[in-house]
Amino acid sequence: MVRDVQCKGTILITPRDVKLKLERILPTVQKPARYTGGELNEVIKNWEAIETRVALVFPDIYDIGMSNLGLAILYDLINQRQDAMAERAYSPWIDMEAAMRKAGIPLYSLESKHPLSDFDILGFSLPYETLYTNALNLLDLAGIPLLTSARAEIHPLVIAGGHATFNPEPMSSYIDAFVIGEGEQVIHEVIDVFQIYKRSGLSRHQLLSNLAAIPGVYVPSLYRAYYKPDQTIDRIEKLEDQANLPIRKLILPKLPPAPTHFIVPNIETVHNRVPVEIMRGCTRGCRFCHAGMVTRPVRERSVTEIVQVIDEALKCTGFEEIGLLSLSSSDYTHINELVQAITQKFAGRNLGISLPSLRIESFSVDLMDLLKESRHGGFTLAPEAATEHMRNIINKPLSNTQLLDTAHHIYSHGWTTIKLYFMIGHPEETLDDVEAITALCNSVLAEGHKAIGHRAKLNVGVSTFIPKPHTPFQWVSCDTVEQIQAKQTLLKQALRHRDIKLTWTDPKVTLLEAWLSRGDRRMAEVVFQAWKNGAKFDAWQDQFNFEAWKQAFTDCHLEASFYTHRARGVDEVFPWDHISTGVRKKYLVQDYQLSKESKTRPDCRQGCVACGILPTYADLRRNTPSEAWRCPEVKSPSKVRVASSR
Ligand code: SF4
Repeated sequence: MVRDVQCKGTILITPRDVKLKLERILPTVQKPARYTGGELNEVIKNWEAIETRVALVFPDIYDIGMSNLGLAILYDLINQRQDAMAERAYSPWIDMEAAMRKAGIPLYSLESKHPLSDFDILGFSLPYETLYTNALNLLDLAGIPLLTSARAEIHPLVIAGGHATFNPEPMSSYIDAFVIGEGEQVIHEVIDVFQIYKRSGLSRHQLLSNLAAIPGVYVPSLYRAYYKPDQTIDRIEKLEDQANLPIRKLILPKLPPAPTHFIVPNIETVHNRVPVEIMRGCTRGCRFCHAGMVTRPVRERSVTEIVQVIDEALKCTGFEEIGLLSLSSSDYTHINELVQAITQKFAGRNLGISLPSLRIESFSVDLMDLLKESRHGGFTLAPEAATEHMRNIINKPLSNTQLLDTAHHIYSHGWTTIKLYFMIGHPEETLDDVEAITALCNSVLAEGHKAIGHRAKLNVGVSTFIPKPHTPFQWVSCDTVEQIQAKQTLLKQALRHRDIKLTWTDPKVTLLEAWLSRGDRRMAEVVFQAWKNGAKFDAWQDQFNFEAWKQAFTDCHLEASFYTHRARGVDEVFPWDHISTGVRKKYLVQDYQLSKESKTRPDCRQGCVACGILPTYADLRRNTPSEAWRCPEVKSPSKVRVASSR
C-alpha cells in the first residue's frame, strides 16, 4: 500500500519569503532564468481580486515545458477569464531542487511566486509516461499530499490532461480528476464547478462527484477495478451514478482561435518559435501510432486564419521561426497554398518555417523548393520500417522506390543531410527486417552521392516500438531488453560509414515506457515506490535510474514482464477500456488482424472506413461546416445510430 509519507500540510511561506530566499540561491544554480519568470507576455493578475487561481504544471524543466503548446493554450484561455488566473510551474533541475529543499522553498509559480499549495487548482500536463515520477516529486516539493485520498479541503484540486492520460490508471492514486481529450472547453466547466464548491462550502467529495458528472472528466476514486485470478482486469465499475462510464474523450468540432501572445523565454529553450497548430488529428492509421488514433477526427484551420495567427504572433513575440504543427503536415489539405502564402507575406523577413512530420510519398517538389528558402538543417523522413512487407504490417505503405526517389529529390534540391527515422521491435519483425534498415540506409546515401557527391550525409535515428493503448497493436508483446540489444548491435556493426550517423534509444527507457503505457491501477504503487527509490527525470538518459524501477516492482510484488512481454487475447479487458477515444475496439481488433495478414487500410480521407468516430460524435459533425472537419458529413439524423464506444 502507498502510504502518504509526504503530507506536510499547508506550507506557511509567503511570496515575499520565496523571493527573498530565491535571491540567495539563484546565483548558485545553473540557468537561474528558468526560475524567475518576468518574460515578455507573461500574465500577472491581482492575486487578491481573482476568485480562482490555477497553476499549470509541466513536470519537466522550463526549457522543455515552455514549448508545450497545450499548456500555452490553457494559459491563454484561463487568463482571458475575469474571475480566474493561470500561472506556471516547472520541475526545477537537480541543483535547484536541492537548493530549494535546503532553503525551505516549496514549489512556487513563476509569475507571483506563490507556493503551489496557495492555488485552487493544479493542472498537470502529462504528454508522456516518463514524467510520472517528476509529477510526484513536484507534489512533494509543493508540500501537497501525493495521494488523492489524503487531500482535504485545504489542498488544491489536482487535475491532469495530455496524451498519456488516455490510460490514466498508473497515476490514478495521485490525480483527483483527469480531463480526457481536448481541454479548451472543459477547463471552463471545471473552473465553474470548482467555484460552486468554494462558494457553497461543499465537501471535497461533493466536488469530485460534481466533476465526475462532466462529460470527459474521469475521477478515478469513483471507480473500482476488479481483477481475475490470472491478474488481468475483470471489470471496472463506477461507484456513483453520476460518474460517466465509459468516459468519452472530448473533442472540439472546430478548432478554436489559436493563441498568439506566447510567452517569450529569456533563455534558449527546445523550440524558440511560434507554434501554430494547422490541423489536429490524422487519418493515415499507422498502427503503432497512439497520437494518430486518439486525436481523430481531422480538423483543419483555414489558410487565412493561419496566416493571421502567424502575423499577430510574430508581432507579439519577435520570434523569427514558426512551427506549422500537426501529426502529418503534408496531409494538410492546403499545404502548398499555405506555404506559398506564408513565404509571400513574410518575404524578406528571413523567417524560418519548420514543417514536422512530412509524408514521403505525398510531398511535392514545389513544396520542397518553397521550404528550402526558409529552412536550414536536415530534411526528415520517417519510413519507420525498411521493408515493404513490414511497412504493410504497420500500415505505413510505401515502396522503396518512392523513398529513394524522394531522397534523390531532396539531395538534388539543396539539402545535404537527410534524417531517417526507423523503429525496431515491430510485431512479426525478424532480424532480416532489421538488416534491411542497413541496406536501405546505404541506398539512400548512394542517392545522395549520385546527386551531390560526398557532401551527402545521412542521420539515422532508430527508436524501439512500444505497444500503446487504444491502438491496433495494444494486444502485442514488446521486445525484451536482450532482443532490442541484439537488434541494435546488428545495426551498430553494419551501419559504419563516415557519412552515416546512427542514434538509438536506451532499451531500458523503452521498457519503462512500455510498463507504464499499458499499466493498470496497481502500477500506481510502483510509480510511488520507484520515486521513493530515487527515480525522477526518467526521460533523461543521465538521470534515468533503472534499478529504482526494478526494485519498485519487487517492493510491490508485481511481475514487470506481465505488462510488457505478454501477448494479450483479443477478448482481454484492458485497464483503459473504460476510456473511449471514439475509435471502437472492434475496429482496432479488425485492424490488428489485418496487420497479421500484412494487409493495409487506406487513408480514410479516401473513403471512411468506419472507425467509430462518426457515430460517436454524430451531432458534432452534423453541426460542423465541411471545411473544418475531414470526416464525411452526417446528413440524415434519423438514420444515425449512436454507437457504443466499444
Ligand atoms: S469516421 Fe471515417 S473518416 Fe472519420 S476518422 Fe474514422 S474512418 Fe476516418
